[in-house]
Amino acid sequence: MLRFVILHSRTIIRRTVTSLPAIDMADSTIIDRRDLEFQLLDVFDAATLTQRPRFADHSRETFIAALDAAQAIAEERFAPHNRTSDEHEPQFDGERVSVIPEVRDALRAYCDAGLLAADKDYDAGGMQLPALVAHACQSLFQSANIATSSYAWLTLGNANVIERFGSAAQKRKYLPALLEGRFFGTMALTEPQAGSGLADLTTRATPNPDGSYSITGNKVFISGGDHELAANIVHLVLARIPGAPPGVKGISLFTVPKFHVNDDGAPGARNDVALAGLIHKMGWRGTTSTMLSFGERGACIGEIVGEPHRGLTYMFQMMNEARIGVGMGAAMLGYRGYLASLQYARERRQGRRPDEKRPDLPPVPLIEHADVRRMLLAQKAYVEGSYALCLFAARLVDEQRTAADEPARAEAGELLDLLTPVVKSWPSQWCVEANSLAIQIHGGYGYTREYPVEQFYRDNRLNMIHEGTHGIQALDLLGRKVAMHDGRAVALLGREIDKTIGDANARADLADEARALANAWRNLGDTLAVLRPAFAGHATLALAHANAFLEVFGHTVVAWLWLRQGLVASRRLAQPTHDDDAKFYRGKQQTCQWFFRYELPRMQTHHTLLRALDDTTLTMAPDWF
Ligand SMILES: Cc1cc2nc3c(=O)[nH]c(=O)nc-3n(C[C@H](O)[C@H](O)[C@H](O)COP(=O)(O)OP(=O)(O)OC[C@H]3O[C@@H](n4cnc5c(N)ncnc54)[C@H](O)[C@@H]3O)c2cc1C
Repeated sequence: MLRFVILHSRTIIRRTVTSLPAIDMADSTIIDRRDLEFQLLDVFDAATLTQRPRFADHSRETFIAALDAAQAIAEERFAPHNRTSDEHEPQFDGERVSVIPEVRDALRAYCDAGLLAADKDYDAGGMQLPALVAHACQSLFQSANIATSSYAWLTLGNANVIERFGSAAQKRKYLPALLEGRFFGTMALTEPQAGSGLADLTTRATPNPDGSYSITGNKVFISGGDHELAANIVHLVLARIPGAPPGVKGISLFTVPKFHVNDDGAPGARNDVALAGLIHKMGWRGTTSTMLSFGERGACIGEIVGEPHRGLTYMFQMMNEARIGVGMGAAMLGYRGYLASLQYARERRQGRRPDEKRPDLPPVPLIEHADVRRMLLAQKAYVEGSYALCLFAARLVDEQRTAADEPARAEAGELLDLLTPVVKSWPSQWCVEANSLAIQIHGGYGYTREYPVEQFYRDNRLNMIHEGTHGIQALDLLGRKVAMHDGRAVALLGREIDKTIGDANARADLADEARALANAWRNLGDTLAVLRPAFAGHATLALAHANAFLEVFGHTVVAWLWLRQGLVASRRLAQPTHDDDAKFYRGKQQTCQWFFRYELPRMQTHHTLLRALDDTTLTMAPDWF
């Protein structure tokens, strides 16, 4: 339905799809809509995608209409219960898991609007929106309510794996139900003894004569692992077939539904998947976190996805997409805190300016104090920089799928592969920092539960942990990604960065930033030139500072994306500009300048340590602590 109306009118879409009252987009607490449209349309050129056959039905207007519809549902259905679901965690009474009803209503509105299948083919019931626009829509839900939105993106990731690697029968059985939100999905990797080290997972899948497998084992931390929000839950489970090679090369992937699926597609008898208990968390409390027991009664049946022993490769597809989702979630929680603290800093009055201490004058708004503006600038730099990073990754997904020729598609895929650990990690680290600054701006009030910023902080703290910890992402980037195809992906990134440097050099107001980015990129190359040969024979030492490398790499990439934003702002300001627009562009330029003056130079310490191959952490013996 959405597909039909979206092609016609944004007025119709709001009335038909959401039946929601019009909302004031300009006064939103979940997004700065001006920024979203600037990034989507001006920086990442979403409208150019409409020239490609896949998106030919779309236009700038349909993209805006999709965002309007998403924002309306996010603000009306998701945001209002963000605090309630934090205060009323899911409960397990020994038989059933109950979740507050607002979660189901919100997800129903989301699925009914066709948003789960936003970027899928028309034939699959989708809207064929570019991934860039679909991720932008998704970001609004993550901002409004990260916990409720997680059921949707887990389901989408699950459907993507089945769509790509499942058999025709599995696609028939699960895909329509998942994409319409009748069934929800999970990813079940982690076991008590195997978290980061998936090589050690022990869940077993024993072949049955009819081609199915009997699954036995225990999984922990499985998000969305049990609830009654959908008619069925399709678990994607990693397990070992007896006789499989040891380590990650012996892991296979299975669909294991909570209820078996009848021939007519309806849920049938209960499969032997038991909820061993719920986990109580610091944040994301609205998402059920479960310990699941497979095959306690010897009757848990699963079906293999694709070929035996290739399960982790398949699952990595889901994890890679999930990692863009994690980065985006982190960016949006940071964004939410930034907007809340900006409003607070404008409204709360306290103290006087250092040069104007007269007590007969009223106190000034917090935003008048330089230190408060420092904290706002840092937040703006982290959250809008993170947003740019995640949207750029989504644009790469579109390039990988729809660029004009195969070499261009392959290049986009390599670049995305390289950047995935950064997209997952940089927002997770720096937007928690942003959330901490948002609390700081609220002073003592920020530390209370009466204001929302403490929840954003708690919610965001997860993002450095799940979908591969920060440390694991760092190892992935330095140990694998930068060396991929003999460093070709790094060279591709360098080519993109050079283009921006060239454009910025042509503008007097950005010459300093262009020079600083060129230096930063050269520095990164010099550091890599030391680290890469060190891998031969000294891999442990080379990887000891993978975390510092992730930070310099991430800061360099985000500096580049800030310069891209600064460039668009500079071009717009060179033309006659409406006063409000001019303020927006000046804000972009100033934040770009801040990032280059205050953040990027801090990376020099990391470069020095990395190049020295310093061994202080490595030689600190465990029993010296
Ligand atoms: C709220 C929540 C939701 C989750 N949802 C899911 C889900 O839906 N499905 C699922 O399968 N899992 C899920 N997880 C599990 C999550 O992916 C794991 O917690 C994560 O992968 C880390 O595993 P671990 O907790 O066992 O920590 P460990 O692997 O024990 O790691 C502990 C610390 O040691 C470090 N470390 C570990 N190994 C190395 C190494 N080789 N080199 C350097 N440092 C290392 C880590 O970086 C980390 O800092 C979830 C977790 C949480 C908290």
